[in-house]
Amino acid sequence: MNRPLPQTPFQLLIVSKTHLGGGFCVGGIAQNGRSVRLCMPNQAGKDHVNKEYEIGDVWRIHDYYVPNKIVAPHTEDIVVLTKERLRKSDKLVEAIEKLMPPVCGGIEQLYDGAVRVAENGILYIGRDQVPEQSTLFWRPDRHLTLKGTNTRFRYVYTSDQGEFYLTYKGLKPADALLPANTLVRVSLARWWKPEDAIHQEERCHLQVSGWFDESSADEVPLDNSSPPEYYPEEYPEAYPNDYSNSYTDNYTDNYTDLPIAVVTPTRVPVTTDLPQLLHQYFGFREFRPYQQPIIESVLARHDTLVIMSTGAGKSLCYQLPALVFNGLTVVISPLISLMQDQVAHLTQFGIEAAALNSQLSEDERYDVLRKMRNGQLRLLYLSPEMLVRANTIMLLRECQVECLVVDEAHCISRWGHDFRAEYRQISSVREQLDDVPVLALTATATRQVRTDIAQNLHLQNVVEYVAPFDRPNLFLAVQPRQNGLQQVLAFLAEHRNQAGIIYCSTRNQVDDLTAALNEAGIAALSYHAGLDDMTRNENQHRFIIDEVTVMVATVAFGMGIDKPDIRFVLNYNLPSDPESYYQQIGRAGRDGDRADCLMLYGPDDFRTVRWMISERPADQQAQASARLQHMSAWVQHTGCRRKWLINYFDGETAADECSMCDTCLAAGDTQPSGSDELTAYAQLFFTCVKQLNEKFGMTQVVDVLRGSRSQKILSWKHDRLPTYGQGKETSKKQWQQLVTQFFAQKLLVQNDMGVIRLTETGKEVLDGKQVLGTFKLAPTASTYTSTTTGDEGLFDQLRTLRMRLAREHSIAPYMIFSDRTLREMSAHLPKSEAELLEIHGVGQRKVEEYGEV
Ligand code: ADP
Ligand code: MG
Repeated sequence: MNRPLPQTPFQLLIVSKTHLGGGFCVGGIAQNGRSVRLCMPNQAGKDHVNKEYEIGDVWRIHDYYVPNKIVAPHTEDIVVLTKERLRKSDKLVEAIEKLMPPVCGGIEQLYDGAVRVAENGILYIGRDQVPEQSTLFWRPDRHLTLKGTNTRFRYVYTSDQGEFYLTYKGLKPADALLPANTLVRVSLARWWKPEDAIHQEERCHLQVSGWFDESSADEVPLDNSSPPEYYPEEYPEAYPNDYSNSYTDNYTDNYTDLPIAVVTPTRVPVTTDLPQLLHQYFGFREFRPYQQPIIESVLARHDTLVIMSTGAGKSLCYQLPALVFNGLTVVISPLISLMQDQVAHLTQFGIEAAALNSQLSEDERYDVLRKMRNGQLRLLYLSPEMLVRANTIMLLRECQVECLVVDEAHCISRWGHDFRAEYRQISSVREQLDDVPVLALTATATRQVRTDIAQNLHLQNVVEYVAPFDRPNLFLAVQPRQNGLQQVLAFLAEHRNQAGIIYCSTRNQVDDLTAALNEAGIAALSYHAGLDDMTRNENQHRFIIDEVTVMVATVAFGMGIDKPDIRFVLNYNLPSDPESYYQQIGRAGRDGDRADCLMLYGPDDFRTVRWMISERPADQQAQASARLQHMSAWVQHTGCRRKWLINYFDGETAADECSMCDTCLAAGDTQPSGSDELTAYAQLFFTCVKQLNEKFGMTQVVDVLRGSRSQKILSWKHDRLPTYGQGKETSKKQWQQLVTQFFAQKLLVQNDMGVIRLTETGKEVLDGKQVLGTFKLAPTASTYTSTTTGDEGLFDQLRTLRMRLAREHSIAPYMIFSDRTLREMSAHLPKSEAELLEIHGVGQRKVEEYGEV
């Protein structure tokens, strides 16, 4: 039943309102029987526009256009320009039946038999049989029953073959039962596939978008009280809502109606002593490599292209010039979460910044607009969708934009891994802003992407900075996976209280490992595309604010994490290629401090990756197999791992061994290590545990044994215990290794707080009733020697204090002070403001705000 879009003017019967993004979406039937969907140029946050349409209304549409990006089966999208409301239909069900006769029968009748069933029972349409339009009406032969939680409802169709699911997307409260033969509107979600399952095909899920009750058919209530839902998988933030030519849309935000006078910005004259500004605002003593020349290039108003690895400090390259410029620096950033983090962080530094995106409430948005027009903002973060809107451009034209920053600029390129259609319109906006200078930044270094960026943004006489991509602060290690969980536990024992990510290749593995860790007393969260949006956001948030430090995730957890103090990345499985591996570990140690990257791999990983490759399009398989070969070569490499990677990516031969990978460390370690009697170590350790009355964690026991003079030892007077200093010969790392053994042999148990106690078997060993075997102690040098030089007790105290402040200010702890700042403080507790200002990451503003620390 494929009908053309109607000629104007035409009459439109409104039949549905469904959730879409943060707002909702309106569906209707044209007088010629064609289904249409009313789109706003940018749907989210426009609910007051959609509110004028009521189900059952008949409108006359005078003028509309088709957005330029139409993807089948969603061929019914139109953007209405002018319209008028005619009346309310008094026979809604009849009218629908006449305009779009419903399909009567079972699910197999829907969409001309194209419906398929996913493993989890969800009904969908595949790429091979795309229907002509995405909505239809249905009178089911069986009841549809409701299943679900507050956040996600599904209607279940039960037949002899089992249960089949359709998501519920309507606005009105879901009924527990839709009796057989109810008139139901069915629609299709956007094309989607799980982010972490590249081998799966794309699909459109079937959804129930409304139903019509014959008795009260023409007064379907509209419920606005339920919170808007947001399904990132169906409408991911990255979905190209490419209605870019829609500047003529009759809807306006009335930015110009704001009752605010445009005032000329009054700025305190600023110094252009760049190092001084760096210290004053950010508290850093020196620029990182490339930052200063880049900043100078930006200030000289050159178009500038920056390729620097993750964590190199790209943001500073526009944040600092923004302080010098008189007008506004506009930053295009692809993810709302990234913008919000940056704005929160800048605010901490006392820099006026704001973000304008679709998730703001009307009040918040007005607030930002007011500040903009008053010249109170130094930096404005914009989503690309927001940038290209006519109103935004108008507003920006009033605002003296000094620099247009394109962050994550690889999103421009179709060759990049995060292509965003809206990014390709930035250049046209730039023209409308009188060719304001552009600064484009990315970590993606391939030449193709680089050329694409320069061409697409029309960069002129561009100054390019390509920094070497090595990440010297990442320690790289590889181990065959034997008893995976034990290996993870041992690694985590060496990274207590540190934030880190454990990557697994499948959702099931993520769930299993998270459960196992929680069972072992380690608080861990999980993140993958199978979790609902709320859970994912919440878990991400809890991780960012350090509430829980271990995140077990699929690759779905990645971009959007700006947390600089991630101290480790553990790959539980072999990644499919060095490119993905480097991207994953790249999330660690952005603050420049040491971070540890451990990869575990096993034979089944190779099978999994090969299988994933076999599912890819034929023309990509050879390339992908070759990359897997490289990954495999790297894993088995006996030379310096870093050198290998630099050679692989840069084609350059690095001169020196790095001493920051397992192979270099092994080569440098010549200490003999024979077999050791485990029992003697166990008895010493357990005696100490007993002397501490089984009230402390591993760190304290080891500190006592190693004769530490930490604050925590001294204040508890633990230096007076008989075992104090008795285990000095054994390194911290070796003790950790031993403790792992004790746990593995179930001699010790640990509660959630990390307090350790002896088990019955442990007591027998202590009493000499049981003897343990021999054991090969690792060489003395610790693999994961932390860079800690300060007083650990004091460091912990400062961390706790920071956590408290972070809670009070509702921000992430790292935004107050980095770990490195705390470490410097604990090494030398500042006695005066001048000393405080000397500490890394403490600027004038921080002293005012957090002087009490
Ligand atoms: P990128 O965008 O290149 O991945 P960011 O801009 O997020 O990196 O910076 C990563 C971290 O480095 C941040 O925590 C930032 O505060 C820190 N940083 C940036 N410049 C400096 C500097 N000059 N000295 C010390 N730390 C810096
Ligand atoms: Mg960045």
